[in-house]
Amino acid sequence: MLPGHVAGHYGFDECHIDLIRLARFAGARLIHDEAVGLDRARREVLCRSHPPIRYDAVSLDIGITPRRDDVPGAAEYTVPVKPIDRFAQRWQALLDRAMSAARLRLAVVGGGAGGVELALAARHRLAQLPAPPEITLVNPRPAAAVA
Ligand SMILES: Cc1cc2nc3c(=O)[nH]c(=O)nc-3n(C[C@H](O)[C@H](O)[C@H](O)COP(=O)(O)OP(=O)(O)OC[C@H]3O[C@@H](n4cnc5c(N)ncnc54)[C@H](O)[C@@H]3O)c2cc1C
Repeated sequence: MLPGHVAGHYGFDECHIDLIRLARFAGARLIHDEAVGLDRARREVLCRSHPPIRYDAVSLDIGITPRRDDVPGAAEYTVPVKPIDRFAQRWQALLDRAMSAARLRLAVVGGGAGGVELALAARHRLAQLPAPPEITLVNPRPAAAVA
């Protein structure tokens, strides 16, 4: 539903799941914290605030986070999609910026299914602005058609 949210079809609440209710339903314990390391000898997940969590088996499902510090200007000018849970906030900030810009020029880096979908969704949403945006898709190879 992410591209649908970007396009303006779904509100924030419509495309989010209440993890507290889901965890309660599943009989799981939910801890809102950041894992900062593993102590494999003690079999513990180390958290930023919470005391270490003991495990017999651990599954790491932290997705990907782009290293923006490695690319000059990236921290200032990019709106990373991942981590995905904070994207809605970043997209809203971009919309607010677009409202006051004369004409927004948006470059979407990555011409795979996700990038194309995001570029089209952004075009749909930003077309409602007084000045239509200029949207560019950046891809290293000639794009293959994706059904
Ligand atoms: C535009 C777009 C469209 C997509 N459409 C589809 C689709 O239609 N169908 C489909 O199957 N997939 C789709 N995908 C891909 C899909 O979003 C990813 O495959 C999926 O999100 C990967 O799930 P994940 O749980 O591995 O990672 P994420 O969804 O990135 O979740 C990782 C979570 O871990 C948290 N986290 C990160 N670091 C830590 C840490 N140190 N401690 C604790 N928590 C941490 C993050 O905050 C986040 O909540 C799309 C992606 C994009 C960008």
